[in-house]
Amino acid sequence: MSEKKHFSPAEISFVNKTFDQAEKLAEKYFHLSPGDWKTHRYDVKTLAYLEEHEVHSRAFAHLCKYDYMKGESADNKENTHFYRICLQDGRILNAVERGSSFIKLMPLMLYIATHELIHVVRFNRGEGDFDAPVEEKIQEEENVHSITRNILQPIADNNLNLVLDCFSDQYHIGDIFDLTRN
Ligand SMILES: [Zn+2]
Repeated sequence: MSEKKHFSPAEISFVNKTFDQAEKLAEKYFHLSPGDWKTHRYDVKTLAYLEEHEVHSRAFAHLCKYDYMKGESADNKENTHFYRICLQDGRILNAVERGSSFIKLMPLMLYIATHELIHVVRFNRGEGDFDAPVEEKIQEEENVHSITRNILQPIADNNLNLVLDCFSDQYHIGDIFDLTRN
């Protein structure tokens, strides 16, 4: 039997729900209002819609940054950017499958969505640097990892606790590293 590589439509609707939930959790933690997501702009794509460079063989998600240039000048104040959270369906489904009855898709997705949104907010606020050298990015992963735990632990049920335990401090999501090209 070949491995399942893509989310089903039902799974995609779960994924969308977990991002809604993660937004609310991030709003509370960072004291944002729902309208602030206009400044912390991001979109989410699943594997079927990813460009080749957005595919990441060793992460659950790959965070890409895209700039919109107004005109020619890089200094134009109207220039803007957004982050794309590139979900690697196959890696996520594989973790759920390997975890059999232990790791469930919803809590794992909530963990991934929360983690990614924390990156987006921190990068936009200058608390982390998307273009930092590797050592700094490792530190940023640690920071985001511990904030994710702080946000999720108070609401964690058994299934979410299992995700938090399995993807503990030694585990790096690797989303902000370009490991595929090293
Ligand atoms: Zn990360």
